[in-house]
This record gives sequence, structure tokens and C-alpha cells, in this order.
Amino acid sequence: MAQDGAVSAETLAELRERYRIERERRVRPDGPRQYLGADAEFGYYAADPYAGEPAEREPLADRVDVAVVGGGFGGILAGARLRGQGVGRVRIVEKGGDFGGTWYWNRYPGIHCDIESHVYLPLLEETGYVPEWKYAPGEEIRLHARRIAEQFDLYADALFSTSVTSLSWDDSDRTWIVDTDRGDRFRATYVITATGTLSELKLPGIPGIETFRGHTFHTSRWDYGYTGGSPDGGLTGLADKRVGIVGTGATGIQVVPKVAEDAGHVYVFQRTPSTVDVRANRRTTAADVGADRPGWARERRDNFLRIVSGEAAEQDLVADRWTSSAGLLEKLLPSFRRQGDRTAFEAAYETADAAKMNELRARVERVVTDPETAEKLKPWYRYACKRPTFSDQYLEAFNRDNVTLVDTADTHGIERMTENAVVVGGTEYELDCLIFATGFSVGVSGILSGRLPVHGRGGVQLLHAWARQGPRTLHGFTTNGFPNLIQLGGMQSANSVNYTHILDEHAVHAAALVAAAESRGALIEPTREAEDAWVAALAEGAPDHEWFHAECTPGYYNREGVGRPNGPGAYPHGAVAFHELLRRWREESLHKVLN
Ligand code: NDP
Repeated sequence: MAQDGAVSAETLAELRERYRIERERRVRPDGPRQYLGADAEFGYYAADPYAGEPAEREPLADRVDVAVVGGGFGGILAGARLRGQGVGRVRIVEKGGDFGGTWYWNRYPGIHCDIESHVYLPLLEETGYVPEWKYAPGEEIRLHARRIAEQFDLYADALFSTSVTSLSWDDSDRTWIVDTDRGDRFRATYVITATGTLSELKLPGIPGIETFRGHTFHTSRWDYGYTGGSPDGGLTGLADKRVGIVGTGATGIQVVPKVAEDAGHVYVFQRTPSTVDVRANRRTTAADVGADRPGWARERRDNFLRIVSGEAAEQDLVADRWTSSAGLLEKLLPSFRRQGDRTAFEAAYETADAAKMNELRARVERVVTDPETAEKLKPWYRYACKRPTFSDQYLEAFNRDNVTLVDTADTHGIERMTENAVVVGGTEYELDCLIFATGFSVGVSGILSGRLPVHGRGGVQLLHAWARQGPRTLHGFTTNGFPNLIQLGGMQSANSVNYTHILDEHAVHAAALVAAAESRGALIEPTREAEDAWVAALAEGAPDHEWFHAECTPGYYNREGVGRPNGPGAYPHGAVAFHELLRRWREESLHKVLN
């Protein structure tokens, strides 16, 4: 291995070839079809381990101003921003037993956010809260979601342990009829969907998975009844257990060190190693982040977004490995490749990428004492082919006697499972417990999952309306024929790694739409022409980074190696410009969607 950072032209050619070979070892003909959904009928997946059996209640048949589908940060922020606009009855309907969304469901040991807490936690100034750690533990984030909900009085009308099963527009009453799985059928003048991007868990379709008789669960349904302990550790129930963990993504790398502290033995089944960069979590004071100055949180959040969006910024307030590597994230940005001389730019870019990846591979070699294990833990792909991860404990865990790394790349993942074992390369690993850190069907939830049918004007179903040409929206939020329906999320808008920031901008926008419609007694509905213009604008500047994803190791960024779905997905000029566009549009053109 060369010194950290040093890359010659020859090495670049070698790297390209090595990346190609490693990609081939992992790509599968079944692509995204290799996974099973959350409704796979075995194990301990679908239940809510935190709420228990929901309390009996009478179905509701009343009327509210706004129904919000989903009580994660998207829904909570929509609620808070609606309150800011003086909207009265806001009913958030949430499948979990409380607010928090991702942070409600994911409570696995070691859970933290890898985005700085001072930019990730929304409404810090409004709630007067200053996080104590640079990267907050999951429980602190979940409690912050509750804090916002309490401060903005969102509990009063909320429905928990309840899923919306359909939305139907009643043109005669100019309201939505909201049906739920608890027998509710209530009316709402407006509906905001905030169903999240990481809410549909997925399991690998390993042959024989359903025959396994040991204990199993997905990390987003952690079974502390079995393991003992808490997100802080102390998993005493695992002391004499042989535990397998499948998955070494952002979740797996947080779980492994915690399980390793307490389990009898841990087998980590890895298909693709993550890039594991320095984390350097530490306590912070209010003074460290300048929290005594009005506007501090917004300034910090905006600054982070600018940097990770590839925009110029005078200073780097967060100063972590996200921001120091931001230049290498540019290839994921819609605007990539539209600047200057492409060839020269890309040559320099690839060299910088190789230097970073060499640095990360050298880190593995430095930390992991067994050379064979270290070799298997080295990531061989370009930076950000997979979501980068950050940990100062994960690689270290492989130096423990009770941790074994099992590489599954040659068999494209775990080969099969039996009643009591996981089989890889013909070797049977007998286990008492197998934990799936296998992630989520990213970006597929709510309406797009097909599980939430939406009937608009004339009974037209939204997904049917979109079947031929793909989604059609104005700014990703509103659709002709579906009045007063606002969708929050990443579709046809702009995204960022700091997703709560994105959600807050969307929530501000949604609340402004509702307030304007209320004050005029109008419906919110874009014209078909406005939709067409937006979809055309997306297509016109559509990014040219398919080549990058095509060369990447498989994962959810490139639909497991089969490429991106067709159709315009994101605003081509990035999140900073998109938020500015929305601000301007609210000032100048909002009236155009009111009728
Ligand atoms: P991922 O989808 O990122 O990872 C799933 C893991 O399961 C991968 O390592 C995958 O291997 C492995 N896997 C899947 N099928 C098999 C198989 N058949 N055999 C062996 N291994 C298999 O899920 P995560 O839960 O880790 O992360 C999901 C997302 O959640 C992240 O990208 C991030 O957006 C978010 N997250 C954010 C955190 C934060 O701090 N902000 C923390 C945790 C998660 P392979 O890579 O080869 O496909």
C-alpha cells in the first residue's frame, strides 16, 4: 500500500481494474429482487417492540384541518410549521406508538446519528435545546422529536399505532376522507404525506431463511427482551450466545462493536465493506457552537448544506469528515459534470478519489491487527459508491477474540440458511441468534410503495395516473387532480445527506401553501402545464452521473447495480438552489396554485 494519499497514474489504472473485479464479485442478476419485504411471514419483524398491543379506542369520524401521514421528523416539522402559520387542528397519524419515525423504530445498541447533531436536530433555537455531543445518540434524537411535538401541541390530535390505509378526495365537500387500519374514517381539508424514506425494512432473500429456528430480528425492531440491555449496551442476554450479524452498512458498523462487548461470539457476515472514516465524537458546549447568538442553528445548518452540496462557503463550521470529503461527494450531485473542462476536471477528481480511498484502506491496515481480516475489510470502490460511514470502534472490534469476519462476496451474499446455521462457501456457522442489519427499501414508502392508495378527483388513483409517464408534480409536492394533497420527501425536489434540513424546508413550504389556501378559501392544485414545465425542467438539466453508478459496487445508490430508475428524479441545481427557488416562488407565484 502506498503512503496515505499518494496515487500514481499506474495505480489509477490498477485501481479501476480492481474496482471492476470487486464489483463483478458482488453484482447479482436478481438485483433489487434479491430482497424480501417487511411482510415476510417469519420471525419477529412486523411487530412494534416498543408499544406492545395498542390500547382499544373508538374509531374517529370527525373533521380536522390537516391530516399528516407519518410522525417522523417530516410529519412533526409539518405540524410545527403549520402551527407557526396558525393552523388549528392538525392530526398526525403514525404507525408507531409515539413520534420519532426512523428514531422511533431504530433503537439498536450503539445507535447514533452520523450527521452533526447541531445541524441534524431541527428547531434547536425554537426549542432552546443544545445537544451535548457532536453526534447525538438515537435516544436523544427521539426525545427531541417528542420535545418538538410537545412544544407545538401535536400530541392532542395525534393517532398512534395507526396506519392510514387510503385517502379519497370528496369533491362535493372539498375534503379528503382518511381511512385507517383502526376503523377511523375522518375528514381533513388538507393532507400532507410524510412517510419517510427508510420505513420499509428489507430482509435478504437467502434460500432457507424461513427454516432458521434460532432467534432473529431486524435492527429496526431490536429485541431487548432477548438481548437484555439498552441502546447504550449491557446486552447480558447474549453472554453465552453465538450471534450472527448480516450487514455492514451505516447500521451494521454501529451495532457490531456494541454486540461484541457482550456476546459469547459474533460472526459478522460481510458482503461489501463500508468505508469507515474517523468519527471523533466528543462533548460540545453551547459556546463551542456559538449557541448564544440568535440565528446560530440556521447559520450552521445552511453552512453544512452549502458545503455538502458543493457550493462555495466562506467557512466550514461543522468541520468533520463529511465536510472535508465534500468535494468527493460532488459526483452524486445533480450538478456534477457541468463545470468547466470535463476531462481535466475528472482526471483530477479521480486522483483525489483514489487518494481518499487509499487513506481509508490504510486506516484499516493500521487498526486491524490480523492481516487477512484487514484485507477483507478494505473497500474497493470509489468514494461514496455506498454511503460513507464513520466509526472509531468498528474496525477495532475485529481485534477481539470473540469476533470473526465472514466474507460472503464470492457467493454474492450468504449462500443459504439451515435450521441452526448460516452457510457460506460450504462452511456452516451455527448460531443462536441472527441479526439483520440489512437496511430498508430506500425511498419507497407510503404512496410510492402502493400500500397507501390515493383517490383524487373523479376517483382516479394517483399511482395509476402516474403509471405511464412516471410521477408528475409541481416541485415534488402537489399534483393536478389531487387538490390539497402535499407530499413531502425527496421525489422531484432536491436532497441532501442532512435529511432533516430538507424536510424542514419542505415543511415550511407545505405550511405556506396551506396558510395561503386558507386565507383565500381556495384549493391547492397546480395546473397540468405547471407540472409539465417542472418535469421538463428536471429532465433538461438531468445529471450525467449514470457512468459513475454503473461502475460502482452494487447497493441502493445504483439499484443493486442495475442502474437508476427512469424518469426525472431531482432538481438539477441542488438543494441550496432549490430552497431559494421555493422561497422566490412563494413570494411571486404561490397564487398560481390556488383556485
Ligand atoms: P444498508 O442498505 O446500507 O446496508 C445493508 C447491508 O446488508 C449491506 O452491508 C449489504 O451488503 C448487507 N446485505 C444485504 N443482503 C445481504 C446478503 N444476502 N448477504 C450478506 N449481506 C447482505 O442498510 P443500513 O441499515 O446499514 O443503512 C440504511 C441507511 O440508513 C443508510 O444508508 C443511512 O441513510 C441510514 N442510516 C443513517 C445513520 C446515521 O447515522 N445517519 C445510521 C444508520 C443508518 P452489500 O453492501 O453488499 O449490499
